Amino acid sequence: MPNPLLEPSTLPFEFPDYSALEAAHYLDAIGQGVDQHLEELGAIAQNTDAPTFENTFVAVERCGQLLRRTVMAYWTVFSAHATDELREIDPEIQSLVSGHQDAIHLDEALFARLSALDARALTGEDARLVSETLRTFRAAGAELDEKRKQELRALNSQITDLSSEYSRKLLGTMNDAAVHYSDAAELDGLSDGQLASASDAARAAGHTQGYLLSLVLPTGQPMLECLELSESRRRLFEASVNRGQEGANRTLDLGAQMASLRSKRAALLGFDTHADVVLQDATAPGLEAVKARLAGLVPAAVANARAEAAELEKISGAPIQPWDWTYYSAAVARERYTLDRAALREYFELDAVLVRGVFSAASRLYGLGFTERFDFPLYHPDVRTWEVFNEDGSSLGLFVGDFFARPTKAGGAWMNSIRESASLLEERPVVTNTLNIPKPAQGEPALVSLDEVNTLFHEFGHALHGLFSAAIYPSLSGTAVPRDFVEYPSQVNEMWALHPEVLPGYAAHTVTGEPLPAGTVDTLDAAALWGEGFATTEYLTAAVLDLSWHSLVDGEMVSDPLAFEQRVLTDAGLIPDLVPSRYRTGYFKHIFDGGYSAGYYSYIWSEVLDADTVQWFTENGGLKRENGERFRDELLSRGNTRDPLESYEIFRGRPARIEPLLARRGLAKGK
Ligand SMILES: [Zn+2]
Repeated sequence: MPNPLLEPSTLPFEFPDYSALEAAHYLDAIGQGVDQHLEELGAIAQNTDAPTFENTFVAVERCGQLLRRTVMAYWTVFSAHATDELREIDPEIQSLVSGHQDAIHLDEALFARLSALDARALTGEDARLVSETLRTFRAAGAELDEKRKQELRALNSQITDLSSEYSRKLLGTMNDAAVHYSDAAELDGLSDGQLASASDAARAAGHTQGYLLSLVLPTGQPMLECLELSESRRRLFEASVNRGQEGANRTLDLGAQMASLRSKRAALLGFDTHADVVLQDATAPGLEAVKARLAGLVPAAVANARAEAAELEKISGAPIQPWDWTYYSAAVARERYTLDRAALREYFELDAVLVRGVFSAASRLYGLGFTERFDFPLYHPDVRTWEVFNEDGSSLGLFVGDFFARPTKAGGAWMNSIRESASLLEERPVVTNTLNIPKPAQGEPALVSLDEVNTLFHEFGHALHGLFSAAIYPSLSGTAVPRDFVEYPSQVNEMWALHPEVLPGYAAHTVTGEPLPAGTVDTLDAAALWGEGFATTEYLTAAVLDLSWHSLVDGEMVSDPLAFEQRVLTDAGLIPDLVPSRYRTGYFKHIFDGGYSAGYYSYIWSEVLDADTVQWFTENGGLKRENGERFRDELLSRGNTRDPLESYEIFRGRPARIEPLLARRGLAKGK
């Protein structure tokens, strides 16, 4: 049978026919796609006609269709369902794709042809395409001499190999580190449903008895909140923070090596550090500005965390240990705010949250309609699809939801595109949201935690950014914005999760059908600042750790990654022994295999815009069509077709202010 990827899919939205695809098809199509793309680019570079915008930049945007659609289809399935067959071919695919990027950006004839165009008369998205394309080429080394280009290719290839090895071992270490408990008594505090899933998980992993708690990606494990025995909590916590430190799946040195090679590459490109390289493509003005912002937030955050620890010790009656923090923090919330976060799960059923919460908020803001479809061939039976419609009934795109955790899925939650909206190519968007919600035991409803409710709204904010894109050119479409801007739309969408006009629509007790007890939202609002000291500190710790790894200079190699981690965090005034980093070096996938190197600061950077935007919505009447329309027109639909900060200022009517963020996180001066 011929490789189905070689021709555009005939399914609606050119959806890939996952039912017909095997690992070998991806590898073959990507190999052929690379060749085809190089041939097409070669023809552009060798064109003897005078350069025009159409025969250079637009022509480049039209190239590489086979590679483009195959890589997007592949990345979606590999991140969400990495079977053994896919894991086997992945290093080769990563290396093909990374080598291909170099072949394009370091092609002297192509860069000369692009640079030769006189673009002064261009305006709007056309002008943006030229400046962004040239910037990308320069940042990737297009202006280096041939000797340095050779060195750069070699470095890129080594970094790619290390990064895919890191990812592979991380998946292994996640499974190795799952904690086995022999006796149900050790798991006092878990619900019957949670106990049943833990028992299922133990059987699935080959244990004949007992219970298995698998780990999620960040340091904090959801079960730490409810496990009654401190010893059981300690085991789970230590398994989490020590991931990647031991055995065949040790990842620590891979991280250190990557950081070293990245610093060497930065020097080659003429920068002091890798962070400087990354930040030249950011909305942040530079490394010093980012460091100054983080350093400015640390003292207040740490002071708040210490104050919280003192409160926890009043209840625990002993010095607080990091594995006890979440448990006693939940106890304080119950006592002080009569807020039982664990009991809230009973009100949040996945389908209700999605359809009557996430989708409903989008309908009321943007006029969208959603119809679930069952006719797409998917890569796993748990995956679902919805067609999304505009208010006038026209079809907007396809939304793919893959919500449940499984061993073949990478940790965390993310949005991805299978097709991107770009009018030049007449493509309509197909976007995915992938989460890791524990799958309920057979026959049980899928209940989600308040955090997971937030994640559902968050990821759908990314989905809207992709769906609404009105870009002409694919490279400027949707979420192709600077990294420290891309989280902003998704953070804004979280504001609807607990909004008084949205929450009552989806929160209903799974057994009795009763709405949330009166006053729950007030209670959540009152309790909102409780725990912010811890949350902000664990986040800042990760952001500082990331910047420290990526502030190494010219090939500097760290021989003891754990000692390095401890030193840079303590020097920054953080308290890692009490409040550990949200991610440690051994399992910091964002920065070692996720495109966020020197970019983890982005979340708080874009949260400044987010908090300022929430204030705008609130001042302008909240959940209203006209508000949604303005946000869609000036911001979500723009992608990278104009400077994102310009879009922000047009939408908001002024530049962002930091005060709403400081207030939200309890960091305002004088507190
Ligand atoms: Zn996000």
